[in-house]
Amino acid sequence: MTSNINQYDVAIVGFGLIGQICAKVCSQYNLRTLVIESKSDTEFSSKEVSFDDESLRLLENVGLYDALKVFLNKPDFTDIVLTNGKVIQRNPVLHTDNDFPSVCTFFQPEIEKIIREKCKADENIDLLFNNELINFNLNDNQVGLDTKSGNKLKYFEALYLIACDGANSFVRNKLDIESVDQRYSKNWLLVDIWLKNENSLENVFRQICDDKRPTSYISLSNRRHRFEFQLLTGEQHQKIIQKNNIQNLISKWIEPNQYEIENISIQNFRGSFANTFQKNNVFLIGDTAYQMPPYASQGLNTGIRDILNLIWKINLVVNFNCNKNLLLSYDLERAQPIKQTIKSSIALGQLIDSLSMAFQKNMPLEEAIAPEARDQAFGRNNNIEQKESKKGIFSHLQSEMIINRRLSNREITDKQGIACLDKMIGNCFAIFSKKDVRNELAEDIYEKLINLNFKFIFDYSNFNIGPELSDYLEAGEIIIRPDKKIYGLASKGLNINKLVSELLMQIE
Ligand SMILES: Cc1cc2nc3c(=O)[nH]c(=O)nc-3n(C[C@H](O)[C@H](O)[C@H](O)COP(=O)(O)OP(=O)(O)OC[C@H]3O[C@@H](n4cnc5c(N)ncnc54)[C@H](O)[C@@H]3O)c2cc1C
Repeated sequence: MTSNINQYDVAIVGFGLIGQICAKVCSQYNLRTLVIESKSDTEFSSKEVSFDDESLRLLENVGLYDALKVFLNKPDFTDIVLTNGKVIQRNPVLHTDNDFPSVCTFFQPEIEKIIREKCKADENIDLLFNNELINFNLNDNQVGLDTKSGNKLKYFEALYLIACDGANSFVRNKLDIESVDQRYSKNWLLVDIWLKNENSLENVFRQICDDKRPTSYISLSNRRHRFEFQLLTGEQHQKIIQKNNIQNLISKWIEPNQYEIENISIQNFRGSFANTFQKNNVFLIGDTAYQMPPYASQGLNTGIRDILNLIWKINLVVNFNCNKNLLLSYDLERAQPIKQTIKSSIALGQLIDSLSMAFQKNMPLEEAIAPEARDQAFGRNNNIEQKESKKGIFSHLQSEMIINRRLSNREITDKQGIACLDKMIGNCFAIFSKKDVRNELAEDIYEKLINLNFKFIFDYSNFNIGPELSDYLEAGEIIIRPDKKIYGLASKGLNINKLVSELLMQIE
């Protein structure tokens, strides 16, 4: 960790939800972190509405979940319906193997307030509000950063810059990184309301294939609800945001005297991705790196997976003197699942549009579905992250399908049945085995693993092992990365010394 006053391990530009969560994760790895945000401390956005179970798992691991949970709502189900109420698809919100609901909704300002306070109280994080990043210079070892607040200029240095400055990113533009447009663009009106009486609306996450205009209705809490309405071609923004027009749109659900409007905005739902997510010591994450229409609610969740992928690697370089080249694996590992997620989010938008159109024209639904949307419609597109290629920091000495799978938190539970794999491993690499493998490791290799804080896990007497991990343990020893992804599996043909040596070659 660096020690000079104006010198940081990591500078984060942009303090939206991605920048906030990223700062907490950096601090957890003991990285001295500067955050630069152009808005004031009292401004909050209201765009995103939900976390999935993987995001909630990360929030728990950085100590944020307990403070946030009172502001999280578990919908009864998510569904896609037609104008006449016919259900096209309905999914219950299940408790997953990560020990969280598959989706939780929230009102963004409430979540942001909590995370900001936690960041302010964190001694590894320095926060600069009302400061715009106006310039930066790169050299091999660090980034020089110029900020502006009113007419006050300041200068900072950091080993790494993480750009979380959103869709119109100054950092991405200055680095001349091109964005590849996915040719999908629709404007939507967003309205958040606050009910005067509790519980007068359904607690669901609903996409409505309305034949007049596709609509989303999402319950955020007992009292708070989000409505999203697609803008029709030629519709004027000024007109659509007028109060009486909004009340008219919402009147199908509730009368104007029963609620207050808290937020109104028009957002462009689009798909695009930067053609690289890294240049020298600068990394792009979240909306800075890509945008996707939010039908599948995956923008924020995907940004959180970027954080999960990147920060342990920066930690290895900064705090464990590992080889900087390992950071190249961020782009290698993230590009493919991100492109797939964008594709699938666009397909879901096309599906909603096609179904709305079919209903309007009284056509059979299957005929109306755009070919690009068929996989989405017929559910063949699940679990994108698990289908990632094996490029990056994974074993290439074997062709095991399990490599790159992320172990769920419930693969180890304590005697009370509480999931505890994450607690057991912490932020380190781990080797799971049936017996103590330390004596089987060559002395120099063992020493290196100790220096890298490796955990050796072989005593399960106080725990229960889940079916997936049990199966792997039958085959041999498993190396797990700090993000809980499987690096590789030692077996008869590939002993643990060889597997560990391969990993060390990739990171040392
Ligand atoms: C309607 C809607 C609903 C959505 N719902 C979901 C959902 O339910 N789940 C989900 O996973 N995703 C959702 N998304 C996607 C999600 O909103 C985005 O992926 C997310 O906002 C990205 O956050 P961010 O922190 O990267 O960017 P932003 O929230 O845009 O934050 C960028 C920050 O950078 C600051 N900044 C910019 N330039 C500078 C500069 N030069 N210097 C200093 N500061 C700067 C800005 O002030 C801002 O605070 C939704 C999106 C929309 C539009």
